[in-house]
Formats: sequence, structure tokens, C-alpha cells
Amino acid sequence: LFITFEGGEGAGKSTQIKRLATRLRVKGYGLTVTREPGGSAGAEAVRHVILSGAAEPFGPRMEALLFAAARSDHIEQVIRPAIERGDIVLCDRFVDSWRVYQGGAGIDPAFMGAVERVSVNGLMPDLTLIFDIDPAEGLHRATARRGNDVADRFEKETLAIHRQRREAFLEIARREPERCVVIDAAQDAVTVENAVTEAVFTAVEE
Ligand code: C5P
Repeated sequence: LFITFEGGEGAGKSTQIKRLATRLRVKGYGLTVTREPGGSAGAEAVRHVILSGAAEPFGPRMEALLFAAARSDHIEQVIRPAIERGDIVLCDRFVDSWRVYQGGAGIDPAFMGAVERVSVNGLMPDLTLIFDIDPAEGLHRATARRGNDVADRFEKETLAIHRQRREAFLEIARREPERCVVIDAAQDAVTVENAVTEAVFTAVEE
């Protein structure tokens, strides 16, 4: 079972992934917890290059391709083997963040679609939880929590861009309702945790 966690900044994905992982471990499930970009040695190296800010001269298509190359490696090295040995795989961001963040940079949708197909090579999540929060609230939370590395990258962006991304995530959820569940991430952490648990255990028991 392959589950991904998506959404804007400061929505609380990481906290909820940790809590969910604890619950699943207690129940005895084999678990792989990973993230995109990253998750394999090669993909973590690409993550460092992209998110350190050095990626700025790369241009949107090159950045999108680097993410896709990292995803391909991550899937073949880590995600697919984990699924094959029966693990539940929890992945912090995946193809939807890429559609929203890199796709939002004005790249031709046909280019994005073709690259996505090659990079996932037939593997899509069974369940995607989209953490939805007003970006003003999310950014407030994220800035309070973070160090300078990644914060530098998104603090340069306007609130309007974050609002567009929020809409883009919600549009994906509308278009793929069988895969996506929207979680109201503005609620308190325990309420969010209950919503996440319900969605995941429904999928696990199916
Ligand atoms: O999940 P987290 O909030 O830690 O993501 C780190 C950062 O990586 C995000 O703030 C975002 O700016 C960036 N990112 C991106 N494109 C993706 C995934 C993440 O720009 N596809």
C-alpha cells in the first residue's frame, strides 16, 4: 500500500506522518517512511542541489526534470521494493507537489504529463492525503518552525503563489476523487490525526 501526503507549507504533514507511523508500527505493520524529493541516496543528492537555492539558474524545465530523475530513482530503489515486500509506504510529497510547484511555473502541461509518466513508470499512490490550509496560516506556522534552508526558498514567494498552489491541490482532489482525500489541516493536531487515521485505516482494510 502506497500512501502520499501533499499540501502547502506549514500544513503539518511531517507531524502527522510521524504520528501515523507510530500507530501503524504499534499495530505491527511493516513500514517505509520516505520523502520526495529525496528518499534514495541519489535523490537526496538532487534534493540538496535543488533546495539549497543553487537550482535557481537551472530554469523551470531543468528543475522539473531533476525532480523527475530523482523520483525515478526513489521509486526503483526504495518505494517499489518496499511495496513488494509488503510494507505500507508513507511518502512526504510525491507527484502532486511536483504538478503543483513545478507545473505551476508555466511549463507546458503536455511536457509535464509526459515526464510524469516516464518518472512514475506505472506506479501511482493508492491513497493521497491532501492537507489543506489557508496559506497565510500555513506560512505563519512554517516560519515559526523552520530554520533558514528551505524557508529561504519559499519566503521569497508571494502569498498569491501559495493561494494558486492551494487551488491546484484542491483541483487534483476534485479530478481524482478515488485516490485523494482532502484533510482540513487548520483543525487542531488531534482532530487532524483522527481524520488521517480514518482515511488510512479505511484504505488498509480494503
Ligand atoms: O515538505 P516540505 O514543506 O518540507 O518541503 C520542502 C520544500 O520543498 C517546500 O517548501 C517547497 O518549497 C519545496 N518543494 C518544491 N517542489 C516540490 C516539492 C517540494 O519546490 N515538488
